[in-house]
Amino acid sequence: MSSIFSRIVAGEIPCCKVAEDEKHFAFLDINPVAKGHTLVIPKREVDYIYDLSDEELAALHIFAKKVAEAIKKTIPCRKVGQAVVGLEVPHAHIHLIPINKESDMYFDKEHLQLPIDELSQIANQIAANF
Ligand code: 5GP
Repeated sequence: MSSIFSRIVAGEIPCCKVAEDEKHFAFLDINPVAKGHTLVIPKREVDYIYDLSDEELAALHIFAKKVAEAIKKTIPCRKVGQAVVGLEVPHAHIHLIPINKESDMYFDKEHLQLPIDELSQIANQIAANF
């Protein structure tokens, strides 16, 4: 069975898409720790990010860099932080999170509850800057 992220890529589950190329996909996290929190994935379904080949891992990060630049143009922040956790969804993904201080990256704090209209607007703005 396909991962929930593969089903998002296939359009079977809706998402707020930010960017896409032939091998990668980026969309807003449904349960963000900060506005603009984005997930970047390889379309090829692999659970553990370090099981990607060197070439795939490099290409994923090069794609993520472009997404991070678009996030930074859209959401005022000092930096875009990057995290790989992967314990919840078994499809490799990079979290990109706009940050002004270290605690903006903490996953164990209360997450934001953003209305779908706002998420959609943020995604469209990042996509326009991609
Ligand atoms: P991790 O696997 O890195 O621990 O966490 C998975 C992340 O995926 C979480 O931040 C969670 O909010 C996000 N997530 C889980 N299911 C969905 C979904 O169906 N859509 C979106 N946009 N994000 C999801």
